[in-house]
Amino acid sequence: MNPLTSKIIFTIGIISWLIIRIPYQREQKQNTIVDDRKTLQEKVVRLLLLLGILFLPLVYVLSPWLNFANYHLPTWANGLGIATLALSLWLFWRSHHDLGKNWSSTLQIREGHTLTTNGVYQNIRHPMYTSVLLLCIAQALLLANWIAGLSGFISFSIAYTTRVGQEEQMLLNSFGDEYETYKQRTKRLVPYLF
Ligand code: SAH
Repeated sequence: MNPLTSKIIFTIGIISWLIIRIPYQREQKQNTIVDDRKTLQEKVVRLLLLLGILFLPLVYVLSPWLNFANYHLPTWANGLGIATLALSLWLFWRSHHDLGKNWSSTLQIREGHTLTTNGVYQNIRHPMYTSVLLLCIAQALLLANWIAGLSGFISFSIAYTTRVGQEEQMLLNSFGDEYETYKQRTKRLVPYLF
């Protein structure tokens, strides 16, 4: 596939991703927060994600500066990238939909927070992170560049490993046995696997 075509497809994916979030971001502002874990580490992690998934791909799409690190991708890899991107967008939307008012962009518990265990949360505890991982895989399969293609995956790996344990601890503090039982019958990212 022409590299320009795959760049355009990835850019449309990122724009759709940002659009999906808008109504939930608005709703989040109305929440009264009872537990907030917006630490410096959390802020750094969010910046890292913006750099890896948004900023570096945009530099690659809009300028020739990263072209020294280009590589070739076969058409089948681009095709797989498009399928992964579509799945990622669906799961991103679906997990926002299922979390509803319980969603927040940082680690928080709101007043009246309930534990979501239905929909895409039925078998995995972090479907939204799965959708980000799928987006990073799509990024590597669509952007044939060692820096812009792999930056998403690297920043996601750091963000995920620093965040997920803290998030589960926060939910355990709030929901106790209910979360423990949920934890025992579910996996983190991939149903029945891990
Ligand atoms: N880790 C989840 C959610 C990410 S959004 C996922 O990947 O799908 C982060 C916020 O969601 C956290 O602040 C937490 O309060 C909330 N959250 C995470 N899992 C939840 C659940 N099962 N039920 C209710 N709220 C949850």
